[in-house]
Amino acid sequence: MSDSPTRSDFDRYMAPNYAPQQVIPTRGKGSRLWDQAGNEYIDFAGGIAVNALGHCHPVLVEALETQANTLWHLSNVYTNEPALRLAKCLVERTFADKAFMCSSGGEANEAALKLARRYAHDHYGAQKDKIISFHQSFHGRTLFTVSVGGQPKYSQGFGPIPGGIFHAEFNNLDSVRELVGDDTCAIIVEPMQGEGGIVPADPGFLAGLRELCDQYQALLIFDEVQTGVGRSGSLYAYMEYGITPDILTSAKALGGGFPVGAMLATDDVMASFSVGTHGSTYGGNALASAVALAAVEYIDTPEVLAGVKQRHDLFREHLEAINRQYGVFQTIRGMGLLIGASMSPAYEGRAKDILPLAIDEGLMALIAGPNVLRMAPSLVIPEADIHEGMARLEQAIARFVAET
Ligand SMILES: *Cc1c(COP(=O)(O)O)cnc(C)c1O
Repeated sequence: MSDSPTRSDFDRYMAPNYAPQQVIPTRGKGSRLWDQAGNEYIDFAGGIAVNALGHCHPVLVEALETQANTLWHLSNVYTNEPALRLAKCLVERTFADKAFMCSSGGEANEAALKLARRYAHDHYGAQKDKIISFHQSFHGRTLFTVSVGGQPKYSQGFGPIPGGIFHAEFNNLDSVRELVGDDTCAIIVEPMQGEGGIVPADPGFLAGLRELCDQYQALLIFDEVQTGVGRSGSLYAYMEYGITPDILTSAKALGGGFPVGAMLATDDVMASFSVGTHGSTYGGNALASAVALAAVEYIDTPEVLAGVKQRHDLFREHLEAINRQYGVFQTIRGMGLLIGASMSPAYEGRAKDILPLAIDEGLMALIAGPNVLRMAPSLVIPEADIHEGMARLEQAIARFVAET
């Protein structure tokens, strides 16, 4: 025990760009976690919308173990069977004709944005380079994706940042009309803003973006890194809206905890990624692809997706009951198992203060910005764990209110 790492080792040895909670979870099973001291937690955080099947799901463990004893990595000098199976699976289940594989959401968006620029360059010329994104959006942490993202705090101090990027107001089509034109190559949007506070797009807004993109020959990119792979109650949230993008990015839940990302597009668009234009050493890694294939095949079934919607209702009922008693929330919103509760005016900006109290009560949760308590649990979290987790949340909220 004496040589077990401690939380102070974080401060001693790791880059100070995170501020992790004090406890160190060491083991997980389903929607339960245990820390170094053996304390047990219910997991409503899901590794930030990543652990879509909870911890150590037998289907994913089996896929990983089998592949681990077969072949790990080849690079893209060769292709490999798991990557080919995963690409075929994603293409057959979505609007897309082709997939580009990578290892994270930021890389998937980097690829999508580069592809949109390259496509416009190939078909219309270099002057068509303008990218429209939205305030409060989040698309990753590479320099291009923080610049496209709509939260200036993530790009401040890293300049000069790439040019040709403009930000409109989410759910405000007029603000897009003011920016869009013949020089627009792409509009990138999250069907539901995740990091920006769990804000679903209005259906008319996404339909309007689709029309504007068609009118100006611009590509519509849906960033489904957080909303994808069953999270919304459909395989991808675009299916809930019935509005189809030209490019879609996926990561987080795609590997259920194994790092993997994908950028999907139509044949016409993906043709601009000709040999040598883009790449990634780990893209299509055999271990990652094998796990992602197992995750998608398990999640994209009527039973699992219907279960997501049932669980959404259960989460909402519990949160509303808590709110009737304590009045801490302004709105409870979201889709499927990506749920946000914004704080009422009396508790403005204080969502973060609930997290350590929740941990103390045995519950892992998240925030999305300073004012929204966020939940992104396993898509197959047992109902008993939802009830127990909500009982613990209620204890935490009772203390939060009492301490205020
Ligand atoms: C998390 C997230 C990303 C970034 O993904 P990484 O895997 O951290 O690079 C991009 N877009 C959205 C919408 C996200 O939620």
